[in-house]
Amino acid sequence: RAKGSLTQSICFYEEAMDEAVRNRRRLTQGLREALDQDQFELYYQVQGSLETGKVTGYEVLLRWRQADGSFIPPDQFIPLAEETGLILPIGEWVLRNACREAATWSEPHKIAVNLSPIQLAHVDLPRLVHQILIETGLKPSRLELEITETAMISDLDRTTHILRQLKLLGVSVAMDDFGTGYSSLSTLRAFPFDKIKLDRSFMSELDGSPQSKAIIRAVLALGESLEIPVLAEGVETMDQLSFLREQGCGEVQGYLLGRPKPEAEQVAAPEAILSAEADFDAHRKVA
Ligand code: C2E
Ligand code: MG
Ligand code: MG
Ligand code: MG
Repeated sequence: RAKGSLTQSICFYEEAMDEAVRNRRRLTQGLREALDQDQFELYYQVQGSLETGKVTGYEVLLRWRQADGSFIPPDQFIPLAEETGLILPIGEWVLRNACREAATWSEPHKIAVNLSPIQLAHVDLPRLVHQILIETGLKPSRLELEITETAMISDLDRTTHILRQLKLLGVSVAMDDFGTGYSSLSTLRAFPFDKIKLDRSFMSELDGSPQSKAIIRAVLALGESLEIPVLAEGVETMDQLSFLREQGCGEVQGYLLGRPKPEAEQVAAPEAILSAEADFDAHRKVA
């Protein structure tokens, strides 16, 4: 047969499809086993205040440990877990275990748990969260739920109703990855979020991109006029931190303060970093 013939391409295509289907099946089966066999772990990434220089909380990030000790990152299995519905038991596992672990910490820091839009659509979340808070004894004020704007698109009325019920429990609700979806502004109008988490893409493009700077400024101004605190995600450098401080950003999270760690309290105190520039500014003013 001629090389590059149509038949050959089709065969190749079918093989690739088969391979993809097999991979999906393997991964789905793996996710089921992971739930049964405790292969999930929670990592914690510190969040800090630029105003007080103190730790404000920890975001809870799911990790799937493989037999060889390596991890499959959430971006590679959450979408499949959502398609297969496995995100429901997985999400419940995350909530329960995060609350349980945080309840044992010596310091009563907040935890921020990511919710999938599928959980919002298919679980009686107010009831589940209420039950888990009682079961674990975690104070509701220590729990923050992060949702992305995609969660708000499908049925805005229903979603805002659920979020309001959640807030009645005493937990707070943050809008995650703000600025990446196409409904950011209208979702802010629909529901009184307790926090806006500015997507880390703006931070990674900050150096050398006047557009990103302008957008960050605009979001900070928006937060200020709506009276919603803004947390900047993905802060990796001191320059980014200084820029955010100058612009009046209240809270930050990112590798500069600390990478996600298996134990929240292992995270080195980021106070020095949070207040470094403030001290510097103070010296500058005196000089
Ligand atoms: P996210 O909620 O926006 O979480 C922040 C992600 O940014 C985390 O990736 C974190 O490790 C990463 N990150 C933090 N600081 C920096 C930084 O300075 N630079 C860079 N380049 N990255 C940084 P991770 O842990 O891989 O999680 C990815 C996404 O997976 C999360 O994005 C979230 O959408 C989802 N996810 C993680 N855990 C859960 C979970 O328990 N449930 C659900 N539904 N989704 C989860
Ligand atoms: Mg998040
Ligand atoms: Mg985020
Ligand atoms: Mg994200």
